[in-house]
Amino acid sequence: MPNKHAVLSASSSHRWLLCPPSALLCSKIGDTASEFALQGTDAHVLCEYKLKIALGQKSDDPTAELQYFDEEMVDCSDMYTQYVLEQLAAAKEKCNDPIVLIEQRLDFSKWVPEGFGTGDCVIVADEMLTVIDFKYGVGILVEAEKNPQMMCYALGALQLFDGIYDINSISMTVFQPRRDSVSTYTVSKEELQQWANEVLAPTAQLAAKGEGEYKAGDHCQFCKIKATCRKRAEYNLELARYDFKMPSTLEDDEIEAILSKVDVLVSWAGDIKEYALQQAVSGKEWKEWKIVEGRSNRKYVNEDAVADTVKEAGYDPYEHKVFGITAMTKLLGKKKFEELLSGLTQKPQGNATLVPMSDKRPAMNTAANDFKEDN
Ligand code: SF4
Repeated sequence: MPNKHAVLSASSSHRWLLCPPSALLCSKIGDTASEFALQGTDAHVLCEYKLKIALGQKSDDPTAELQYFDEEMVDCSDMYTQYVLEQLAAAKEKCNDPIVLIEQRLDFSKWVPEGFGTGDCVIVADEMLTVIDFKYGVGILVEAEKNPQMMCYALGALQLFDGIYDINSISMTVFQPRRDSVSTYTVSKEELQQWANEVLAPTAQLAAKGEGEYKAGDHCQFCKIKATCRKRAEYNLELARYDFKMPSTLEDDEIEAILSKVDVLVSWAGDIKEYALQQAVSGKEWKEWKIVEGRSNRKYVNEDAVADTVKEAGYDPYEHKVFGITAMTKLLGKKKFEELLSGLTQKPQGNATLVPMSDKRPAMNTAANDFKEDN
């Protein structure tokens, strides 16, 4: 049976708000928890425990049960706890009796059928309602600004406390320590409610019925039918169609036009290849395609036996290498790493990467630029 939570979840709202019919289609496909998701769950459990203890609440230490527990997780949950305590202290300056809710169920079904989620931390005070979401992921940087997941949580929190507290604004923060990012977005209560009534509720109604327009774009990367979606295919094939002008070599503006489409095309093509491969592995027979064995390298059947045998023969079977920065951070934790090794690390200049002008990073100084300046 499809999971209720999955149909119109807050976490997928960015996608279904842009492409409403994707919600029902995705809900029919089962979830497989990735290793990253499981790691995130462990980190959330640790954060919940740490915060409860810091607030003087009772909580059992979960560390023995956490599969992915390591020093980095300890540091990140410490930073999160510290951040929440700071926000609570700020709230206390304006309100005598703020409350902190941890792992609070937030119901926004007034706007989204069966819509609910779990807020990592909500601080309720007069004037300001604060919603804090802890993200342990490192792959994608999550911004708070106009983030519909955060706005759904904020609506759920407002449902619980508006009227009890005198709330004017809602502050939403995505706390993402492994990206060194604390992103905050603040809206007035009226603005949030207007969005809920004019955008969220009508779109959710369409999405719940599988209606509305399909719309392809960057959000497709989070869609479970992304490999086989016709709309996405049409969108990408449209992007790929390019009317080449004469002469026979491309002009600069043509190259730039193609560059702007390359990443989405590559990502879509990769999804199609992966889907077709997985289907073939599961037994599907494509008419013109087959699976073959790829290249493989020899490997040991038993590493311990190899080490023993080599040692007996009088050799050292091990290579001694210093951990890489990621593994070392895991071993020591972020704080200890900085304490011990900040003077022993450096960041070499990265390879040149071509990005659109809209990218926030400053343009790189190239040898050609230096040459221009010298002349
Ligand atoms: S792949 Fe994109 S266009 Fe297709 S249903 Fe999913 S979100 Fe919509």
